[in-house]
Amino acid sequence: MRIGVPKEIKNNEFRVGLTPASVRELVAAGHELFVETNAGNGIDCPDSAFQKAGATMLPTAAEVFKASDMIVKVKEPQASEIALLEPRHILFTYLHLAADKPQTEGLMKSGATCIAYETVTSNSGALPLLKPMSEVAGRMSVQVGAHYLEKEQGGRGILLGGVPGVGPAKVAILGGGVAGVNAAQMAVGMRADVTIYDINMERLAELDMFFSSQIRTAYASKAQIADAVAQSELVIGAVLVPGAAAPKLVTRDMLKTMKRGSVLVDIAIDQGGCFETSHPTTHADPVYEVDGVIHYCVANMPGAVARTSAFALNNVTLPFVLTIAKYGADEAMRRDPHLAAGLNVSGGKVRHQAVAEALDLQF
Ligand code: NAD
Repeated sequence: MRIGVPKEIKNNEFRVGLTPASVRELVAAGHELFVETNAGNGIDCPDSAFQKAGATMLPTAAEVFKASDMIVKVKEPQASEIALLEPRHILFTYLHLAADKPQTEGLMKSGATCIAYETVTSNSGALPLLKPMSEVAGRMSVQVGAHYLEKEQGGRGILLGGVPGVGPAKVAILGGGVAGVNAAQMAVGMRADVTIYDINMERLAELDMFFSSQIRTAYASKAQIADAVAQSELVIGAVLVPGAAAPKLVTRDMLKTMKRGSVLVDIAIDQGGCFETSHPTTHADPVYEVDGVIHYCVANMPGAVARTSAFALNNVTLPFVLTIAKYGADEAMRRDPHLAAGLNVSGGKVRHQAVAEALDLQF
């Protein structure tokens, strides 16, 4: 198959749909690869690396789309990219259509087959192409939390792990899923005093087994969360209720009980946030203060570590790209119902029930 990788054009997106290593795998499998010039610059993969892997570099997105049957990207296509899509194209990327009617209508009009990373499923019912981004955000949350606890950043002046003779900081992690566990691993590694709060008792039992005495687990009742907020220097929000806005677990009143210079990192901000006082921020201006408590609420945390994120994303998308390239989209989806769950739009129609319902469009 002829596969194209345009340079990402969304504001502040540095990742690339296929890394040189992925290109090499696809070329070895007999496919033709077309990559836009400078597509990998943001993750320090120069054109020469793609060429060495067997790709043909093309100077514009228009030429990449023209040369290719499948387009592999990271972010949803922008208007200028949608205009390049034709019915013969397969588009494989993050789409997040449920909150984006103009994009959905644009993709319908293009006639292309659009498969969204975020709705591809796995045997366990999880969303495997979202997982690496939760891993990145979880791990990063402790790194940024530690940074903003420093005095110069407006923080309390606390070292997360303490030192011999001075105790560590208390870290409360709300939600013990993918992001929460990855946050806990980093916080434990830095020797902080870590407690994970969740409402899923099975999950808490798993975490208890996994971390043994390195962390504490607690049921996420209102009372427990109120205590956690009052006592902790770093609170990480990592809850998810699939298909719904994040529950507001930390209220404005609770915030008043926190120590000045404590830090809240709301990973769940992309679902509305789990602190009442959260609002989305950007990497350019990531934090703000409410009642003396620093809030970090960046909705696209993995963007800050684009190189790690691009490689992590490729690790999980490449097997699907190989399958689609081998069989074509229709046969690949017939063979793999998990890939078929990723189909959002094709032949001018919305093919994903939740997307159709969210946008009041025909399914
Ligand atoms: P997950 O499904 O793996 O885990 C969520 C956990 O939250 C589950 O264990 C669940 O039981 C728990 N939970 C649900 N309701 C709760 C409640 N009321 N109290 C306590 N725990 C509760 O989800 P995940 O992959 O870890 O994602 C977590 C959040 O991070 C999501 O909102 C996701 O969209 C977000 N995320 C944000 C970024 C970013 O850049 N900001 C990046 C990746 C993921």
